[in-house]
Amino acid sequence: MDHFTALVIDKNEAGQSVAWRELTLDDLMTSEAGRDVDVRISASTLNYKDALAITGKAPVVRRWPMIPGIDFAGSVSRSAHADFKVGDKVLLNGWGVGETHMGGYAQMARVPGDWLIKRPEAFDAHQAMALGTAGYTAMLCVMALERHGLTPDAGKVLVTGAAGGVGSVAVLLLARLGFDVVASTGRLEEADYLKALGAGEVIDRAGLSGKAKPLGRETWAGAIDVAGSNTLANVLSQVRYGGCVAACGLAQGMDLPGSVAPFILRAITLAGVDSVMVAKPKRIEAWQRLARDIDSGKLAELTETHPLSDVVDLAPKILEGKIRGRIVLDVG
Ligand code: NDP
Repeated sequence: MDHFTALVIDKNEAGQSVAWRELTLDDLMTSEAGRDVDVRISASTLNYKDALAITGKAPVVRRWPMIPGIDFAGSVSRSAHADFKVGDKVLLNGWGVGETHMGGYAQMARVPGDWLIKRPEAFDAHQAMALGTAGYTAMLCVMALERHGLTPDAGKVLVTGAAGGVGSVAVLLLARLGFDVVASTGRLEEADYLKALGAGEVIDRAGLSGKAKPLGRETWAGAIDVAGSNTLANVLSQVRYGGCVAACGLAQGMDLPGSVAPFILRAITLAGVDSVMVAKPKRIEAWQRLARDIDSGKLAELTETHPLSDVVDLAPKILEGKIRGRIVLDVG
């Protein structure tokens, strides 16, 4: 496919523009190491960060013109990398794709082969993107809690932003692994949805949104937080002695207006989770764990599929917290 369609973000003195364009393979970027792989993309997905890039609400894109889309799944159409051959099924998350390197909202991508991983056989391209960066980040959060030694008998585990992408997959994974999951959401009307994913209890996020006390009632053995700001400060203040919080997001804000009290008086741990620059062995481990631990029927229930052409209209909705679960973008 020499010519293909892509969403392109551009910037000039007037500001940012977003448009569909016809491109050629020569418009894609090549790496200095010369071990690039061309991928015919069959599916991508909408993550919170993609929406920030498309709307320009945060400086996600740092090179122009840029094809947004921080992840994709597809098959190899040309390879200069020893680990990949034509026809291999691959996926990519992060590494600056959609930020500083042409991304997944296109029919073709060219990336350094070191950034790709083989798609687990358990998933087709659609399922891989139903998980996408959000699902893979949820798994990294679960792995962080496990590394801390958290086990299902320790007590309740809280998931914030539970009706969103990372949150929905985190609830699904933790429940499947036997944890007693409490889902915090601003959408109490989604309580049945969250219980169907495996939440034992659903609470109103308003209780975690205000200014945090240095120490609250010891409630959670562990938590996965996508909100940051007051929410994370409140969660930290309520973690039981020796517990752990995996923090990956900033849906409420980037600040952390809390106290050291939970760290120095309750010996809690705050585990930071980043999905973009994680080393390859940990990515492969996370995807293998997803292949083992995800309930694919329930994954389908939390996923909506749209044509790629819908992405510009969908982007503001995810930032407004109006998208439930995950969006797969069909790039066919
Ligand atoms: P979604 O928009 O799908 O989910 C975010 C959820 O957060 C919303 O659905 C909502 O859930 C909740 N939320 C929204 N606004 C607020 C608020 N003001 N206060 C508290 N909760 C709020 O996004 P994703 O799940 O894709 O991403 C979640 C976060 O994780 C984002 O900040 C994203 O940037 C970050 N992220 C980080 C990664 C990393 O590598 N560290 C990778 C992937 C995501 P509800 O309606 O249930 O309350």
